[in-house]
Amino acid sequence: MSFDIVIKNGRIINGTGNPWFYGEIGIKDGKIARIRPKINADAKKVIDASGMIVCPGFIDIHSHTDYILPVSRSQESTLCQGVTTAVVGMCGSGMAPIPEGKEDEFKKRMGTLDPVLEQFEYPYHTFKEYLDYNERKRNPANLIFLVGYENLRWAGGQGGEDRSATHEELEKMKCYLREAMEAGAFGISTGLIYAPQVFVTTIEIIELAKIVAEYNGLYFSHIRGEGETVIKAVKEVIDIVEKSGCAGGQIAHHKVSGEKFWGRSKGTIRLIEEANERGLSITCDQYPYNRGMSDLATALPPWARKGSHDEILERIKDHEIQEKIKKDVEKGIEGWENWIRDECMKNLYVATVNSDKWKDIIGKNLTEITQIKGKSDDWETYFQLIIDNELGVMITIESMGEEDIRRIMTSRYQMVGTDGFGIPASFSAGAYHPRCFGTYPRVLGKYVREEKIMTLEQAIRKMTSFPAQRLRLQNRGLVLEGNWADIVIFNPDRIIDKGTYEQPYQLPEGIPHVIVNGEIVVQNGKKNKKSPGIVIRRPT
Ligand SMILES: [Zn+2]
Repeated sequence: MSFDIVIKNGRIINGTGNPWFYGEIGIKDGKIARIRPKINADAKKVIDASGMIVCPGFIDIHSHTDYILPVSRSQESTLCQGVTTAVVGMCGSGMAPIPEGKEDEFKKRMGTLDPVLEQFEYPYHTFKEYLDYNERKRNPANLIFLVGYENLRWAGGQGGEDRSATHEELEKMKCYLREAMEAGAFGISTGLIYAPQVFVTTIEIIELAKIVAEYNGLYFSHIRGEGETVIKAVKEVIDIVEKSGCAGGQIAHHKVSGEKFWGRSKGTIRLIEEANERGLSITCDQYPYNRGMSDLATALPPWARKGSHDEILERIKDHEIQEKIKKDVEKGIEGWENWIRDECMKNLYVATVNSDKWKDIIGKNLTEITQIKGKSDDWETYFQLIIDNELGVMITIESMGEEDIRRIMTSRYQMVGTDGFGIPASFSAGAYHPRCFGTYPRVLGKYVREEKIMTLEQAIRKMTSFPAQRLRLQNRGLVLEGNWADIVIFNPDRIIDKGTYEQPYQLPEGIPHVIVNGEIVVQNGKKNKKSPGIVIRRPT
């Protein structure tokens, strides 16, 4: 037998969590064809992995790369950290379905993330058309899709309104959801802090999750609160899984936000463990940083965020309404995650802006911006930023404590996910979160090698076979004969993230080679132009 690629002299960590072993891997026709202590056969290409770890490609269980695909299909920042499959459509907000007649509102909302997304002509409406489109376009890494709850709400007809779906609207949402599940979606996602999903009731989610259950699909959630209400919010996910009967629930980018609430991961992890003991499959994912990323407008009270993009913008220009917003933030609203009160303006750092007028303050926090721009107070800065940028301000939020980060990371129910975008290192927009470039190398370099909070094999399980099992992928996530050859080769002594909050767009060190479906996509640390990734549809 002759091979396309043979990987020699490496230590294999196969993804199960078992200790490494010496072995050589022969790859042919996209698959792992042979694993032996020595392979002496012809190969078109030989990779010498001396001193390296050879492991399955990382399955990014929480990715927002779908937002960026219309702007760039490079995926450089995630490929170079070893991501060979990305699960997208997270936090309740995907790129499909786009119901006919709702294109303009969809574009306006996407435009708050990147103005290019408002100009883009989306050549599809249904979920199937969307998946087929992505398949035709070709991507460097494999993609897996969820349906976003927000997309279903717009499809149902209630859109941005502050109310539950009527019976008729709910039936319409179910139709769209079925279409997506039939097309190959793996499940549904919610983002319960974002408008209009902040108005959605638990009962409504359960009704839709019952459809997901019919297809053995999953429920992923950016939960209703990650600070004061984090315990209650985790309970809601468990409740939805239990009452809908869907195959499992995933708590997205699990964290505890706000210093006052640090330590509450003890309670959330206990809840996850107890649910599993009762036979409910509840898991979580996490990125290894102490800052989150979101958009500045989401710090507004829910009532201020109802309606269309233009209605929200007009509302917050009104001075009386601005005063009411300030009062509500000071007082708080029952059940609402109140960032400005809990994290303070000085912990909100501007990551991207849409207006050139504000480009000079990227990387600064709101209190610093008040000083730089000579504003009277942080509130004036806040409203001016949102109004000038037409809601298009992304921020990073310093909110997490190391103890919670480590407790969640070492839970056996945790997987690693970037919550980021695959973007080129030359990306021009602002300063998105460094997790886009460094999530996996940071876990392996900082938390495994330097801090020794878990073994290399345990960490790799969380990046490979565990997410594969969660998704029911039968032939990925393990270095096993017959599996697809998604492989990462890295140096365990050197692997580390390089991006910082100030300079995030820096590729990591110590990952020379990445292989997707048997094709090299990263060679000697550099991404090439190959696009062997496929759209993976939900296994039946
Ligand atoms: Zn989220």
